Amino acid sequence: MYFCYLDESGTPQLGAQTSHFILLGMAIPAAAWHQKDRRVSVIKARYALQDAEIHTGYIARRFPEQEHIANFEQMDSVQRRAAMTQERKNSLIKAAALKTGDRLKSLKKVYAKSADYIHLTHAQRTQLLQELADEIGGWNDARLFADAVDKVTMPPGVDVFEKTFEQVVSRFHTFLTKREKERLNRGGATTGTSVDNQGLLIQDNNQTVAKKITALMRKFHQQGTLWAKVDRIIETPLFVDSSLTSMVQMADLCAYATRRFFENGETDLFDRIFGRFDQASGRIVGIRHYVGAKSCECKVCAAHRGIAKQK
Ligand SMILES: [Zn+2]
Repeated sequence: MYFCYLDESGTPQLGAQTSHFILLGMAIPAAAWHQKDRRVSVIKARYALQDAEIHTGYIARRFPEQEHIANFEQMDSVQRRAAMTQERKNSLIKAAALKTGDRLKSLKKVYAKSADYIHLTHAQRTQLLQELADEIGGWNDARLFADAVDKVTMPPGVDVFEKTFEQVVSRFHTFLTKREKERLNRGGATTGTSVDNQGLLIQDNNQTVAKKITALMRKFHQQGTLWAKVDRIIETPLFVDSSLTSMVQMADLCAYATRRFFENGETDLFDRIFGRFDQASGRIVGIRHYVGAKSCECKVCAAHRGIAKQK
């Protein structure tokens, strides 16, 4: 049985904030869950984050307050936390004095979301994300599936989220079907069971999409997707609390790295996980870059066409 952890990056609506919307699934064999969860915990513990959520977007950003603290790098974790807490308090007082509620509200949000990471310098946080990305990149039994949509190229009226969900579900299902065929070709019952190649989707408990993807999955079970029946995937997606579930956090890291690759050309994290996107006959079939009628020379589009030699 494969668990496929879903996460998104960017907003599906057209807007100035992000040019792309990414939906990504990270599939691992259920039997390998314990080992992987432990390995992620070991890395988190090295950064004193054993009980914290890895929320990549907040870990990766600059914390300007750190740059105002003298000798921040020379301090120990306790001193850094104390100095940052004070510095952030001062920033909130200043923002409150400006009497523009928006600024205060957004600062408070960023501070709350990043509070677990303030004892780490930007270099340490970068290193943490690199280590986690390398860890995922080394999971030979894991597969990534993603749909990356350049939103302005999507025809008007199309529901971007729905399209990406259908893509990711189909790609995951194709992978499971391929494995099941291979198993049967190897002699069937003597080499594992059909259950080994069934899949279950697991999603961060997000009220805005929970109802929608449950309804979509029910529809796929009844009617299939645009391309295929999805009989190797069972149930509607299960919802978990991402703050308590490391694997959803790893899917979040992969979705973030994928969006930053398409939007900003950032390759550092993306290259570390790129090899995990599902492949078939030398082509990358686990990820699609949707650009409508535009032509695109990015390495995902090239690998999708099967003409790029990947390292
Ligand atoms: Zn492309």
